[in-house]
Amino acid sequence: MADCIFCKMVNKEVPAQAVYEDEEILAFKDINPVAPVHVIIIPKKHITDATQLKSEDAGLIGRIYLAAVQIAKELGLEENGFRLVNNCKVDGGQEVFHLHFHLLGGHKLGLFV
Ligand code: AMP
Ligand code: ZN
Repeated sequence: MADCIFCKMVNKEVPAQAVYEDEEILAFKDINPVAPVHVIIIPKKHITDATQLKSEDAGLIGRIYLAAVQIAKELGLEENGFRLVNNCKVDGGQEVFHLHFHLLGGHKLGLFV
């Protein structure tokens, strides 16, 4: 997607502070963190939001979850835990329309953050 900031990060046209990368997943530090650890985890392929997921994406979503747990462990969140969040569309608070998950942790989170 030409105008998608996260696709540009996948294509290295926009810099990312990457913390994890494989063939189909990229994870990077959020530019505006709301917790001591705030990582954005995305599929490299452009999926606009969770409503666009197809049955063939089930494995990808499972691998994203496993990558999130691995990153959480590497960033010291295993003992006290973390939150993995997907904001979907306007009512969900989505601002970047490329499917992504927020990995949040490093202190006790309130209901929203
Ligand atoms: P959402 O509201 O769920 O769409 O979240 C989008 C997130 O992407 C926000 O937390 C932004 O701070 C983050 N974000 C936007 N642009 C960048 C960027 N260039 N690098 C890192 N994080 C970004
Ligand atoms: Zn995209």
